[in-house]
Amino acid sequence: MGKKTIGFIGLGAMGHHMAKNLIKAGFELTVFDLNPQPVGELVSLGSKKAKNSAATAKGVDVVITMLPADDEVKEVVLGPQGVLEGAKPGTVLIDMSSIAPHTSIFVAGEAKKKGIKFLDAPVSGGTIGAEKATLTIMVGGDKALVDEHRELLQAMGKTIYHVGDVGMGETVKMVNQMMLGINLAGMVEGLVLGTKLGVAPETLYKVIRDSSGNSFVFGHRVPNYIFTGNFTQPGFALDLLRKDLGLALESAKVNKVPLFLTGQAYQYYTRAAAEGLGKKDMSAIIELLEKTVGLQVRGKVE
Ligand code: NAD
Repeated sequence: MGKKTIGFIGLGAMGHHMAKNLIKAGFELTVFDLNPQPVGELVSLGSKKAKNSAATAKGVDVVITMLPADDEVKEVVLGPQGVLEGAKPGTVLIDMSSIAPHTSIFVAGEAKKKGIKFLDAPVSGGTIGAEKATLTIMVGGDKALVDEHRELLQAMGKTIYHVGDVGMGETVKMVNQMMLGINLAGMVEGLVLGTKLGVAPETLYKVIRDSSGNSFVFGHRVPNYIFTGNFTQPGFALDLLRKDLGLALESAKVNKVPLFLTGQAYQYYTRAAAEGLGKKDMSAIIELLEKTVGLQVRGKVE
């Protein structure tokens, strides 16, 4: 049997790399995005171009969506000219966006009514992981279906975890994002205080890389974004992190789980978004505190 044919919708900061990696692995792609620029790029690499989501889903084995948030996923899958209009029964829909677990469960239910199978498969590892195909992918859904699509997922990621039924992939991702958001907010406060007290930012970076305050986000965001002051390069939009923390707070509300630090971090990112930082990389959160204190945490790492 030949390789599965794929419809890919959502060629943004993450999706365009993931689609390219599928092409590299020999999959045949039909693509769609509202933005013509990445569509053109994928077409130049051999993909077919579709005129809407329904046309993307027509005749393919698997549809992958990599969209910003819940509303876009609902629109693209359930809306007019959406995936469910175009896909034939037996098609598999893999949503890799980070959305609320209850939205995945709802979308999976609607898909099932049309004979379409569903996996939620959000990712971690950032745009670099997407580019290098080293993403961590956390998948919810039927185990046999996950196993059947391992080769495809491995073309985009290094570690594929099957974490439970539909919605559980998104649950694990949401928990990861809470930890990331709190970590980044704490990191920024530490960097600004240390710099204000007179330690060179490079020294803070070097020593903490070897100490217990270190983290994945610290090791990547400090040298590449904070020290360079370039928060507009491709990354993870602050608005998207704020969305993820909001999803966690929503789930916590329904399930009566108190989340003190997530609540504070959410307000932090909301203030940053209100001050116009939402489209920048999430690490631009430091600009708020830098402005308040009147310094900049910049440096060079050899
Ligand atoms: P992005 O905003 O860069 O890309 C989203 C793409 O979807 C855009 O190209 C946009 O034009 C397209 N789109 C939006 N609505 C559409 C519609 N109705 N029809 C067709 N296309 C549509 O976002 P991203 O950074 O690539 O993130 C995608 C998802 O992955 C988000 O849920 C995000 O939280 C998650 N994520 C992002 C990162 C990261 O580092 N950027 C890492 C892990 C997970």
